[in-house]
Amino acid sequence: MSDTATKVNPAEQKHAFQAEVAKLLDLVVHSLYSNTEIFLRELISNSSDACDRLRYAAIAEPKLVEDGGSTFEIHLDIDKTLKTLTVTDNGVGMSRDELIANLGTIAKSGTSEFLKSLSGDKTKDISQIGQFGVGFYSSFMVADKVEVTSRKAGDTNGHLWTSDGKGTFTVADAPDTARGTKIVLHIKKDAEDFLDPHRLRRIVKTYSDHIAIPVILDPIAGEKDAKVETLNSASALWMRPKAEITAEQYKEFYHHVGHAFDEPWHTLHFKAEGAIEYTALLFVPSTKPFDLFNPERKTNVKLYVNRVFISDSLEGLMPRYLRFVRGIVDSSDLPLNVSREILQDNPLLKKIQNGIVKRLLKDIKERVEKTEEYTKFWDALGAVFKEGLYEDFERRDDLLELARFRTSGADGWVSLKDYVGRMKSGQDAIYYITGDDAGVLKNSPQLEGFAAKGIEVLLLTDPIDEFWTGGGVTYDKKSFKAVVQSGEDLDKIKGADEPEKKEDKGAAAEQAEKDLVEALKKTLGDSVADVRVTNRLTGSPVVLASDTGGMSLHLARMLKQHGENAGLGVKKILEINPKHALIKRLMTMSGASFDDAAFLLLDQARIVEGEPVTDPAAFAKRLSAALERALG
Ligand code: ADP
Ligand code: MG
Repeated sequence: MSDTATKVNPAEQKHAFQAEVAKLLDLVVHSLYSNTEIFLRELISNSSDACDRLRYAAIAEPKLVEDGGSTFEIHLDIDKTLKTLTVTDNGVGMSRDELIANLGTIAKSGTSEFLKSLSGDKTKDISQIGQFGVGFYSSFMVADKVEVTSRKAGDTNGHLWTSDGKGTFTVADAPDTARGTKIVLHIKKDAEDFLDPHRLRRIVKTYSDHIAIPVILDPIAGEKDAKVETLNSASALWMRPKAEITAEQYKEFYHHVGHAFDEPWHTLHFKAEGAIEYTALLFVPSTKPFDLFNPERKTNVKLYVNRVFISDSLEGLMPRYLRFVRGIVDSSDLPLNVSREILQDNPLLKKIQNGIVKRLLKDIKERVEKTEEYTKFWDALGAVFKEGLYEDFERRDDLLELARFRTSGADGWVSLKDYVGRMKSGQDAIYYITGDDAGVLKNSPQLEGFAAKGIEVLLLTDPIDEFWTGGGVTYDKKSFKAVVQSGEDLDKIKGADEPEKKEDKGAAAEQAEKDLVEALKKTLGDSVADVRVTNRLTGSPVVLASDTGGMSLHLARMLKQHGENAGLGVKKILEINPKHALIKRLMTMSGASFDDAAFLLLDQARIVEGEPVTDPAAFAKRLSAALERALG
């Protein structure tokens, strides 16, 4: 397989790399990446995936492997004269269009955000790329020219892709190409040690030993005692006994199977026996995967049936809120000869899901007390994990135990157990507020009354928080209540240094409050749904609230940002603080100055809440008038 000459149809086409790729390549090539040897891991990983995919396709369509064989192999060839290293597989191959799409663009979601996050500082950027992974493009770390010849299984003609990694590549016809993919790397001067078989042997052993397909070093032309040599163990790692697998091997497998580049936060490897048998090897990442918030919310556990790869992301194997989990499940109890769609509905699949989720949550629970480790997990993945509170009704209680929250009463992550332990006498609900930023929420006037009594409030800032909190969830028999709708509760809860009995306001004061509410309602008209007195405030004169059971102000804003009309209809209520000097003063005012003050207070409440002022010109006019009166 060491012949690198390929018959080429001169009708070749030149293409430019997608801008993102060009940028990545530039970074890869022009920096001294300390770990260049990982290019081989990437190429072998791709070849292994290509073989897995063809093996699966051939179950339904056996003629796909008639030419080129059904024994899958990856070959490495060294040519010391031409200074080339060639990686060949007889996997599924690529068509012309696939060559252009796969090796000219980056389909990986999150790429552009990733590239935007690069600082421009080369050393920093390169270490970040190490986390992101450049896959095939890492070839250009060691080669100044790369030729990829490929023929897709089932096609008659192959194609040749060529590039020096400098902005463009060409694609031409290559008629006499074997099925699969051959990648010829023209090794750079300073990378010639990759032509040394000892070096290759070590690299494959280190990074690719777990690959289930044999990686074979072909005899080197002109060398004596040349023999074919298989460099890896070539057996499925997950079938080996745990005691024989090193942490390093687990990690490399995680990198391959998860297309990941970090340390796994947790590794779970077990064999289930009994009613249904399967082996699972699962990893929880330690950093946030790039595609975590993609709208498809695809899961990432691969399904194998009897060592045959079936699917990357079978619906039903993993719940979506655990989509950060990488790894494989292999079962011999599932049927091989059915489509993915039929497999999806197989009741055994649900059983497997139950089994793996149970084990996984048990493992996570075991690490919950190790605060520093657990914080790492929650920082990276908590926002997704919490989706389970909304989606996984059966396990909600377990998930609530594992969930952590920012609160107004502490700096780090707080468990509900700790929260409940600190509840005040007379408090029977868990209070929360939703918004975009915990720091802003902590200082929100909405919390004033709670802060005055020392009542802790959960500060919820993830989109999903708007949803699970609305579902009648309870923890330790306590319900979750939005502070915006809990003003009345404050009377029942006793703060630390509060007098036992509250003094009576007196009938006259109460009448004055009532009159003011009526006057404000009349003045503000349709701008608010209601006006009412609240005792949630201590320092601020006014605050906005939404109606009990209605949509929260934060959710309404979120929907509006996404162009959803549903967000427009939320009823806003102006709450006033009768103890505040401004409000007391308002009770004595009338006429134009009263009207100006009423609207200014409403706008102030909007601003504090993060809502836009609806009529900026009117706002400015009223503010000027009020200032004039005050200064004049
Ligand atoms: P990733 O493997 O993370 O998708 P790569 O840059 O390594 O990213 O590869 C890009 C794509 O090119 C792969 O997803 C695959 O579709 C295709 N590809 C790469 N190498 C091969 C190969 N040897 N055989 C078939 N397809 C390949
Ligand atoms: Mg790859």
